[in-house]
Amino acid sequence: MDQALINGAYFFAAILFIFSLAGLSKQESAEHGNWYGIIGMAIALGATILSPSVTNIEYLLVAMLIGGAIGARLALKVEMTQMPELVAMLHSFVGLAAVAVGYNSFLEHGEISGIMLNIHLVEVFLGVFIGAVTFTGSIVAFGKLRGIISSSPLMLPQRHKMNLIAGIVSFALMVYFVKQEGHMIALIVMTVIALIFGWHLVASIGGADMPVVVSMLNSYSGWAAAAAGFMLGNDLLIVTGALVGSSGAILSYIMCRAMNRSFISVIAGGFGTVVSVNNDQDYGEHIETNAEEVAELLKNAKSVIITPGYGMAVAQAQYPVYEMTKKLRDKGVDVRFGIHPVAGRLPGHMNVLLAEAKVPYDIVLEMDEINDDFPETDVVLVIGANDTVNPSAAEDPNSPIAGMPVLEVWKAKHVVAFKRSMNPGYAGVQNPLFFKDNTSMLFGDAKDSVDNIAKAI
Ligand code: NDP
Repeated sequence: MDQALINGAYFFAAILFIFSLAGLSKQESAEHGNWYGIIGMAIALGATILSPSVTNIEYLLVAMLIGGAIGARLALKVEMTQMPELVAMLHSFVGLAAVAVGYNSFLEHGEISGIMLNIHLVEVFLGVFIGAVTFTGSIVAFGKLRGIISSSPLMLPQRHKMNLIAGIVSFALMVYFVKQEGHMIALIVMTVIALIFGWHLVASIGGADMPVVVSMLNSYSGWAAAAAGFMLGNDLLIVTGALVGSSGAILSYIMCRAMNRSFISVIAGGFGTVVSVNNDQDYGEHIETNAEEVAELLKNAKSVIITPGYGMAVAQAQYPVYEMTKKLRDKGVDVRFGIHPVAGRLPGHMNVLLAEAKVPYDIVLEMDEINDDFPETDVVLVIGANDTVNPSAAEDPNSPIAGMPVLEVWKAKHVVAFKRSMNPGYAGVQNPLFFKDNTSMLFGDAKDSVDNIAKAI
């Protein structure tokens, strides 16, 4: 295929990616956004395969077939609740690919010299550095999300100094690497440092800050792809990487604001976090209830707010939740949903689940839109949410989630909390909400509980 035609295809694909991001920013247009992305990617792949620089097309096709089959199998198999883990794993692949591309383009940089060689070496060095940090950081994020690595922050002594030293040594190695016009040992030493640095950076961030980490790694993977684009001289990869990198950075910033965290402190590996988890404290007795009692409470209520969390996703309770909502609305009860920005395990998790169950968008409100309405609300149903409704975020300055804005559900007349036990939420802190006089616990799988309530109504 002619190079001009390929450039045209790349340009078209880049525009489709921009439309895709714009579409994905609203629920109503998200499906279109997804299609723009799929078509853009198909064009990008097609143009790359047919470009004149590709000589052994059969290798490429075999690799794509194997990769595509693994990807399709994973995507078909994955549960909604495992989506963040899959995303973290995919970020690690981007990181690893950037490292491989970096080494390859260092070994085969062809006949360049002078300033062009220096630029190329800086590209290689930075590409490998960002790729290696993304690779191990994403593996730790995957482990923390899956629960195979503890979600509490790793607090090594002098950890900030170690991070700083790693940064300074890497920079010095880059200067040496360029001065020597490429030095394999310097590149290898930096790769090892970057792998350890990435691991440590994410390991030292606590559970409640994980949403920021996931979006931050998303951003890193974008920059790693952009760096690979520079090394390969592929404009589309540069544009796509920059789009992912900057949108991930914006998302991280939004998540930080939603959690009242300093952006710099989170990306610097939890700099400044003082964590004290005291789960031995006596919070008093909790009150238990059952489905019939809750159904009665709901039938007599004028206003109800449902605050879903990760447990609703685990139980796949969104369908019966909407059935119950319809029944209550038919009886004239005002039912709305209050969504915390970090509820669940990925940004927008609850919105996706509710949209899947066909809950109308106009009754699904963001935390800021609904938080002032709790004092006038008769009943709040906390369905599988925990950290996002924890009053200690507002009341206990020593709590690991202190300062994080939460849904102030305890201000309502009655609160019913749906969960299976008294276990803490993702951040590992107990929730005083469950021991308040106006809160009743409805134990059991959220789907079964909601089903029973809907039947009783
Ligand atoms: P939490 O993760 O704090 O708590 C979930 C609750 O659901 C648990 O208390 C659990 O209690 C209950 N639960 C689990 N399974 C079921 C079930 N089948 N039926 C009924 N209840 C169930 O939830 P939130 O959504 O409130 O908070 C999200 C947390 O995840 C925050 O700390 C956030 O920072 C973090 N996070 C968010 C990400 C994001 O992007 N949104 C990414 C990574 C982390 P029990 O076991 O007793 O049933």
